[in-house]
Amino acid sequence: MLVLGFESSCDETGVALVEVASPDAPSAPGSPRLLAHTLHSQIALHRAYGGVVPELASRDHIRRVVPLLREALGRSGRTLADVDAIAYTQGPGLAGALLVGCAFAEALATALDRPVVPVHHLEGHLLSPLLSADPPTFPFVALLVSGGHTQLMRVDGVGRYTLLGETLDDAAGEAFDKTAKLLGLPYPGGPALAKLAEGGRADAIKLPRPMLHSDDLNFSFAGLKTAVLTRVRDLCPAGEALNEAVRADVARAFQDAIVEVLVKKSLKALKQSGLQRLVVAGGVGANRHLRAMLDAAARRHRLRVHYPELEFCTDNGAMIALAGALRLVADASVARAPGTFAVRPRWPLAELMTPA
Ligand code: ATP
Ligand code: MG
Ligand code: FE
Repeated sequence: MLVLGFESSCDETGVALVEVASPDAPSAPGSPRLLAHTLHSQIALHRAYGGVVPELASRDHIRRVVPLLREALGRSGRTLADVDAIAYTQGPGLAGALLVGCAFAEALATALDRPVVPVHHLEGHLLSPLLSADPPTFPFVALLVSGGHTQLMRVDGVGRYTLLGETLDDAAGEAFDKTAKLLGLPYPGGPALAKLAEGGRADAIKLPRPMLHSDDLNFSFAGLKTAVLTRVRDLCPAGEALNEAVRADVARAFQDAIVEVLVKKSLKALKQSGLQRLVVAGGVGANRHLRAMLDAAARRHRLRVHYPELEFCTDNGAMIALAGALRLVADASVARAPGTFAVRPRWPLAELMTPA
């Protein structure tokens, strides 16, 4: 079964082809295979504005989707006639951006007379480590750390998710981006802040570890960002620019604080659920310090940590085609006839969850 997937929830246009054995195939169902994927990031387009401009994002998705599809098909060696189902991100995300992917996927599916599978963007992130060379097996605890979400989840199988904890305010990626902005770094701030932090000194600046010792698995990062703001004001009361060395110290302190909280809460989630496997997904999963600290903790506690390939940490079409394919294999009734143009800019993952 060949699934074509589209991602357009924010500022990345992604297209991918994933092949998976259908449940009624005579051979044993093998793991899904990514045949090809193409991606265009709009980072350069939005940089001048310091963040994503929704209208520009929608227009750029329109421009990119057809060439990306042609390229993906070319690389896969397949044609549109080979496609069995079309998956696309239905939400959450920017309404106009989602509508481009939805309208395109629904129209293409209508023309080809194929079913569609609307996909929840976060389920895509959550399952993205399954695309790696050494995929995790179920069950596992997932730490989902993206630009809009920070959640710990127990994953017992495709579609079988239990929320263990989440952020009460800012997402981890959002905290990285906002703090980066405060330090005068260009959009998107997360990777830039991580790079700056490499030159900073440990413990030169002290920052709080929000909710580190709360007896739940929730997070709160808004206070951390405010603490950085206060510290920056203390360091330069007249509003003068921070020198490079101090900025690096601040970046280091921020990254150390957020990573420590993410690592400790992930370990706590593993302990509470009695599981030994942790899966990290979402853009902040690309952070090298987070990976190093998680790997060190895993060695100490005899745990396994799985990450998506770096290119599949942030938004991409491969994870959407994969989630669509796995959903279809798990339950053929998720496929529906094309022709409905409905996106869900706000779509709590909880609505997708079935009790484990
Ligand atoms: P969501 O999936 O919740 O809708 P999103 O799609 O915008 O949000 P992702 O694409 O998963 O989020 O990730 C983007 C986020 O990851 C940004 O906030 C970005 O700053 C952050 N990020 C990317 N690389 C790094 C890094 N190396 N260190 C820290 N943060 C990073
Ligand atoms: Mg993005
Ligand atoms: Fe995302």
